Amino acid sequence: MSIGIVGAGISGLHLALRLQQLGIDATLYTDQGPDGIRGGPPLNFVTRFDSTRRREEALGITRWLSSAYDNAWMHMSVEGPGGLSFRGRLPQPASSVDFRMYLATLLETYAERGGEVVHGRPADRKQLAALAGSHDLLVVAAGRGALTDTFGRDPARSPHLTAPRHLAGGLFHGIRPADPPGMTMHMVPGAGEIHAPAYHSFMGQVTVVLVEAVPAGPFDAVVGGDHRDDPERFTRDVLELITRHAPLLRERVDAREFTLARPVDMLRGAVVPVVRHGWYELGRGAFALAVGDAWIANDPLTAQGANLGSALAFQLADELRAHQGPYDGEFCRAVSERMWTTARPVVDWTNLFIGEPPPQVATLLAAAAGDQRVADAFIANLDRPEAMWRAVSRMDLTEEFIAQAQSVRSGV
Ligand SMILES: Cc1cc2nc3c(=O)[nH]c(=O)nc-3n(C[C@H](O)[C@H](O)[C@H](O)COP(=O)(O)OP(=O)(O)OC[C@H]3O[C@@H](n4cnc5c(N)ncnc54)[C@H](O)[C@@H]3O)c2cc1C
Repeated sequence: MSIGIVGAGISGLHLALRLQQLGIDATLYTDQGPDGIRGGPPLNFVTRFDSTRRREEALGITRWLSSAYDNAWMHMSVEGPGGLSFRGRLPQPASSVDFRMYLATLLETYAERGGEVVHGRPADRKQLAALAGSHDLLVVAAGRGALTDTFGRDPARSPHLTAPRHLAGGLFHGIRPADPPGMTMHMVPGAGEIHAPAYHSFMGQVTVVLVEAVPAGPFDAVVGGDHRDDPERFTRDVLELITRHAPLLRERVDAREFTLARPVDMLRGAVVPVVRHGWYELGRGAFALAVGDAWIANDPLTAQGANLGSALAFQLADELRAHQGPYDGEFCRAVSERMWTTARPVVDWTNLFIGEPPPQVATLLAAAAGDQRVADAFIANLDRPEAMWRAVSRMDLTEEFIAQAQSVRSGV
């Protein structure tokens, strides 16, 4: 069996490393080498939860096991009148490491272990079809790039037509860690969110500030400007926004020290949440299967996309190990449907949180602010999408979740 994997993000790399470990022949096609990945601007600010870290451990990736990279706490606040705040502890810490370092290291590891890496870029369906002749199956893990047109949006699973948030962020010095250290998220109703996780990057420990702006809302001016030529203005605008809208975060900022780590450490963009069709017939009996963002793109609000990409990569590797072929339309359809069972809670939960919050979300946040047991149970669910979706999908289920959190730990 030979699998061609297009794209060396977390989805493609976890799949390639897993197949290598299982003794399945895989070729990784990448448009960037490790140096290009390290030298570019940040494409995201990913926090990896414990399930993803355990998969890394299974792959023998031990580089970030040390507690120096841990983020064990999540602080959340709803800003403004009637606001609230709480913090919850993850049962096992998450890790926030600059993905430029992370992906470059994984790509080097795959090659060092003898994995085949082809530097090239199949740019469209025609070029994909040309590659298909060399493999039993092509897996497209090319993120939100041009190849996604191959798969087409699945309207039944994609409620959004435009991006619900505009994004801008950077790596900053001059922010004290939260107490206890970890991730923070400040929700400003009607405006968006400001995330500020502790983050490990090229220069050591820094803090990400990621602003998610509701389009045309109060944050949009800061997020919408093109600051590439003026990082200092970007820094000033971000500080002003924090000062005005996120007082708890402002308390941690030393204005004299507050500065972008490096001019390159800035990101701007938007994600149109979408579920695409999971596979595509390339012709002559050849198929391409999509994973990761190439299949499903979510707004980063719930910090799930990379964690999901990793989970799907492992699931797909198991499917490939268990199946002797052919890797035809029926195989792709069945595998994609099984992977949808994994992905769906992430999609539903993220779409719920990105919209106008329903009453049960307010009930849950208020309960978390009033009871540490509920806060911990809610935060633990960041690494359990199915449980999270169950807890937030309906008021009666939210009430059940709260009651259970309150009883289990108090031994009632
Ligand atoms: C601001 C921000 C914050 C985020 N925070 C989190 C978080 O905290 N937790 C979380 O889990 N997720 C988070 N995400 C989402 C996460 O970044 C993505 O879901 C995840 O990185 C997707 O991984 P992927 O491997 O599927 O795709 P990508 O990371 O996009 O990788 C695709 C790769 O394929 C390459 N490529 C593209 N086209 C071709 C081609 N034709 N040929 C060869 N190679 C090609 C690309 O260059 C890229 O290297 C965040 C996203 C953003 C924008």
